[in-house]
Amino acid sequence: MDDRKRIFSGMRPTGRLHYGHMAGALINWVKLQNEYNCFWGIVDWHAMMSDYADPSKVKENCYEILLDWLAVGVDPEKSSIFIQSHVKQHAEIHLALSMITPLGWLQRCPTYKEQILNLQNKDLSTYAFLGYPVLMAGDILLYKSWGVPVGEDQSAHLELTREVARRFNSFYGDVFPEPETLLTPAAKMPGTDGRKMSKSYGNSLQIAEDMETIWGKVRTMKTDPARERRTDKGTPEKCPVWDVHKFFNRDAQELAELHEGCLSAGIGCVDCKKKLMVHLAEMMDPIQKRRAELAKRPDDLKQILEAGAARARRVAEGTMEDVYSAMNLIH
Ligand code: SF4
Repeated sequence: MDDRKRIFSGMRPTGRLHYGHMAGALINWVKLQNEYNCFWGIVDWHAMMSDYADPSKVKENCYEILLDWLAVGVDPEKSSIFIQSHVKQHAEIHLALSMITPLGWLQRCPTYKEQILNLQNKDLSTYAFLGYPVLMAGDILLYKSWGVPVGEDQSAHLELTREVARRFNSFYGDVFPEPETLLTPAAKMPGTDGRKMSKSYGNSLQIAEDMETIWGKVRTMKTDPARERRTDKGTPEKCPVWDVHKFFNRDAQELAELHEGCLSAGIGCVDCKKKLMVHLAEMMDPIQKRRAELAKRPDDLKQILEAGAARARRVAEGTMEDVYSAMNLIH
């Protein structure tokens, strides 16, 4: 029995992960797993909410995400890694919580409107999609999570989770703790075009991509527009390459030299990018080797998911007993 505080987080299996996922979540997860009882869910029901018309890639994407997680260092010995639909209680708690969640809370949810706008090529006017924050609340509350690691942009969802927990508790008694926000330290990771790194913008550096592919992308990556010619002086703070340097380059002296070299036009952007590649390779080479090795062992991957789901189910069953009992249902 692991009596450390419980933490839940998940990712939608909608494609391979990129350096932005590493900087914004995974590196933090690797640290958290040493301190907390962590439940990391590959939330396939959430993927189905947007990809219901064509689920052909969902299964494959679940394995891609799993490989990315494991390669970066998320450890199945230290945390429970599982697929959401393998723990049926996620569906049960979603139904129970949907009984008490007012429609207005969902209609007002800022990310609902944003997602509808962002994914205009998909018809998201479904019953399930409106309710996805309820499923998300269920994912968290199912483990009576003490905390949830989130980026600033997701904190509204967590607030809704707390409201749902409060409302449930006010009707039926204290079942759910209100989860704390564990704000992930912000690490800016721009894509190759300078916008936020995102698969849908086609500007991402993927964890699974080899260094040759990454160099092809970094070579043409946007820099400070003031540096049109080699002799033009630049400002690192206006350059997306610099943000990537700050994350991957741990050599403070080299960073200071590059900074100065950019300001004085002492170095060119190609030199600066080549230096970056040395640091990218240093961090990413072992990750890619691990990923390639793991990909050859599909039975081990299944085993990891089965063991993770079994551990998650043990907690989930206990929570659902409490939910049924609080709601006065015969179970
Ligand atoms: Fe960016 Fe480096 Fe070029 Fe400066 S020298 S603009 S930091 S790529």
